[in-house]
Order: sequence, then structure tokens, then C-alpha cells
Amino acid sequence: MSSSASNESLRAPASRCLLCNVGCPVRVMRAGPDQYLPDYVPHAGYAGLCGRGSVLVELADHPDRIHDAHRHGGGGREVLDLRAAAAEMAEALRSTDSAAVIVDGNWDVDTLAAVGAFAKSVRAKWAVSVPPNDEALVRGLDSAGCRFIGPEAIEQADALLLVGDVFATHPVAAHWILEAKTRQPRMPVLVLAASAGVTADFASASFQAAPGAGLAAAVAAVRSGNASALGPRAKGLAGWKDQLKKAKQPMIVVAADTGCASVLALAAEVAHLAKELNAAVCPLTTYGNAWGALRTAAAGGAAGVEDILKDPPEALLVIGADVESALAPQAVASALSSVLTLVYVGPMPNRTSRRAGLVLPAAFAFEQSGRALLGPGREAAFEPLLAPPAGVPTVREILALAGGGAVKADIASPVAAATARANGEPKGEGLLLVLANDPVHFADGSLTREARWPQAVIPRPVLLLAEEDAEAAGLADGRRAVIQGPGGRAEVEVVTDAAQARGQARASAAFPEVRDVFGWKLGTADAYEPVRVQVGKA
Ligand code: SF4
Repeated sequence: MSSSASNESLRAPASRCLLCNVGCPVRVMRAGPDQYLPDYVPHAGYAGLCGRGSVLVELADHPDRIHDAHRHGGGGREVLDLRAAAAEMAEALRSTDSAAVIVDGNWDVDTLAAVGAFAKSVRAKWAVSVPPNDEALVRGLDSAGCRFIGPEAIEQADALLLVGDVFATHPVAAHWILEAKTRQPRMPVLVLAASAGVTADFASASFQAAPGAGLAAAVAAVRSGNASALGPRAKGLAGWKDQLKKAKQPMIVVAADTGCASVLALAAEVAHLAKELNAAVCPLTTYGNAWGALRTAAAGGAAGVEDILKDPPEALLVIGADVESALAPQAVASALSSVLTLVYVGPMPNRTSRRAGLVLPAAFAFEQSGRALLGPGREAAFEPLLAPPAGVPTVREILALAGGGAVKADIASPVAAATARANGEPKGEGLLLVLANDPVHFADGSLTREARWPQAVIPRPVLLLAEEDAEAAGLADGRRAVIQGPGGRAEVEVVTDAAQARGQARASAAFPEVRDVFGWKLGTADAYEPVRVQVGKA
């Protein structure tokens, strides 16, 4: 696709799937009476939707959807007038000196800015919630002075460095990688990833890096031409800088799905290498609007989610985020238990909404028009995919009922750089465990776990292991196993995987019981990094 065709795709009047920052244009097809299916918008040059994008329509009329404002308490549920509930929400925040608002970062940027203005009007702190890996990638790259591209431009590459298992995290982006390979079958493609997944099948060469800091070290080895610290398997990395340098249009595609400190280190190495090669960088985030959310938060003086939770407020409004699932679950649960008034606004119930005393319904982000920033220079306006159910307001309408006003977000300025910390591998016995993203579930899974298609394909968490490690633990493919880690234990199904290096394991990211195993604490240097675990028979 030419760059003008790429711009055309961003201007296409369509709804957008924001379940990753490929941001596929999506529309609804009628498949029969009262039966609708999502479909991609072919004229915009995209190749289709992945499994995640296919759940959007199903979520819209999900049987568990929140349809009315209500109060929990005394073992019962009292339905409330929406206008009165919005006024009560505002008063709960206004009537204390210790109030905060946490909003999910995948709302459109103008809704996020309106949330920030509303929070200020009631003297509350506010924060935008995005996955830690997204936040680290944006904070590591946005001010790094790289030349950025969107995934549509990958097709023009004549040499590629792919960091992460792009096919698993951003399936439609893989389409443009294959297009580039088809145009130039001899194009050099190096894949650096924690597992030799499907993306490694596209590669001229691939290197399976250790989880956590291993990816940053592998990119550094390519840049420096010195791979000796990574062992004999990494020997081939040393010559790759020259191969990439010979290309006219080298590109680096980076999808980071674990860690926080390690992703900051990875972003710094990617930026460094890109500048030396004069390569374009295509950053891939889990949240479609991660870039827009973090720029809006920075421009609106937002705090960090962890800063708010480390010193829990008396009154907390959570909009759309399942903060308990999305972050260190035990630490967040403890913080939420000391909040006196918890209000939840959103389309679907989750761990956080079930704790809330007051709950208000809201449209999904894809049921309204808005703007998202998919990446630097990739602002996309979108239309509603479907109208929300009758009587269900948008978040902006709820804010208006609560006394808030419309605001246009400032997304022009890059987010200030954050400095990488150097975390080594965790010491101790046992397998090194990281979370594994998959092409079916989105982020913490609090939405996709509720839908039929993901339930049919990945209904329970799996543990991906090398066959030798499974045998050593007395396990085999398909057997039930227990993972015991610093935060507790979880039961999983074993999948032996030839792509998995020995001594390392990956477990489904979209299940809260798996995230509980890690025992992460808020704001610590090793939060969201790999841990050592014991694995045995269930
Ligand atoms: S690739 Fe991303 S944007 Fe496209 S359908 Fe899948 S999740 Fe949605």
C-alpha cells in the first residue's frame, strides 16, 4: 500500500476495533433476523478482523450487560434513576478531600479529557489505566526522536526486525509483514521473541530471548555487534546490523507483552538501534488508544494509577477499568477494601464493579463517535459500530448529568521519557514464568472472557512448557497442573510447546487467577516482571 492509501485508511469513515492499535476499521453485517456479525471495511486496505475484533458485536447485547443504575447494599440491589445516580456520584466525590477517578485508557481521547476536567471540578485526583507494558512502551519511545510508522506501512519494508510475537499479539499486522515478504521473498527478517511462535515462521533468522530483560539484551546485541553475553545460540545476531543497514527501508516492529522495567529497557534499545540504522519504528500496543490515553493524561495533569492506589482515597470513581484484574490483583484488592465509597461506571460487570456500592451503565467506546491516537501521527476518528441499548448513556453523557462539560483533548505533545531500570533475572529455583498473550483474549480478559467465541477456543488458562520440563514435573500435554508462585497457586492445563525454551514457561495472561500467582506489588521495581514458580500435578 502506498502512503496515500495508508492515510486513506486512517480517514475512512468507519468504526474502529481498538482491541489493539492496529485499529482495524470494522462494520456490522446483518446475518439474519436479529443476528449481526462484525466485518472489516475492505475499501480501507485492511485484511480482515482477528478473533478479538469478532467479539465486539456479541458484547453489545451480552446478557450480563449493565442496563440500569443501581445501588448494592444490605444484600440487595436497588434500581436508581440515572440522573439521580449521576448526581450522587458527583456528590460522593465532591464531599471529601480524598477523592480520585480512574478511567480506562481505551475510551476516546475527548472522553478521557472530559473525565480529567470533571475530576478537577470535584477536586479529585485522576488517572488513566492502560496495561503496564503499553505504558512502558509509550514512555520509552514517544520522546525518543524516532521516525514512526503504522502497521500499514510495513508492506514497504525491504528489511525487518520483528521484536515480540507479533502474530500472537497483533494478528492483522502480520498480514503486512507477509505482503512485504511476498513482494521481496529474499528480504531479511530477524525475529527476536520470548518464544519461537508463529512470527518466527516468517523469519530468515530468529532468536528466542529469555523472558523479561532478555529482549532488550538481544536488541542491544544486534546494535553493538557483540552477542557473547547471550551464549552460543545468539552468535548469529552479531552480523544483523550490517544486513539491516544495507536496506533502503529497514523497519523495526515492536510488540511488548510482558514487564514494565524490561519494556522500558527494550524501548530504549529499539530507539537507539532505529536511529543508528535510520530505520522506521512501528510500535504495537495492547490498547488501541494507549498512545492517545497517555498523551491526554500527561496534558491533563493526571496521576499514575498506582500513585492513587498506594494511598487509597475515601471516594473512588472507576470508569470502565477492571483495576483489580488489570494490575497486581491482591495489592489492588487490599487498596479497594479501604475505599469507603466506590462508584463504578461501565458497560459490563467485572471484579471492580462487584465491589462498588453505586453502579451506572455506560455505552462501550465503540458505540459512540470519537478520536483515538493509535500511535504517533496516527490519529483516527471513528463512528459508532452500533447504537447503545435504549437508556444506556455514553460516559460523556453521564459526566454532563454530573455537572461536567465537553473538552477537546490535547494529544499533540509526546509523553516525557521514562528511564529504564535494569532488572536481572529473578533468582531461585523453578521455572521462569511470564504471561502469554494470545490472539483471542484482550488485555486482562475481563471483556473477552465473557464472550462465546473466546470461551469456546480458550475457556481456561493454559501453561506453555517445553516437553522436557513437563516430563520432569510428571506432566504431559493436556494434563491439569498447578503453578505455585510468590502470590499463590493456580490450576492450568498443560500445553507442551516446541517453541518454548527449557526452564521457561508462559501462562495465559487473560485469567485473573494466573496473574494472582505472580504476587506483584504496586510500584516496586520488579512489578510485572517474570517470577520463579514450581509446577506440579493438580
Ligand atoms: S488486529 Fe487488533 S484492531 Fe484488528 S481486529 Fe484484531 S484486535 Fe482488533
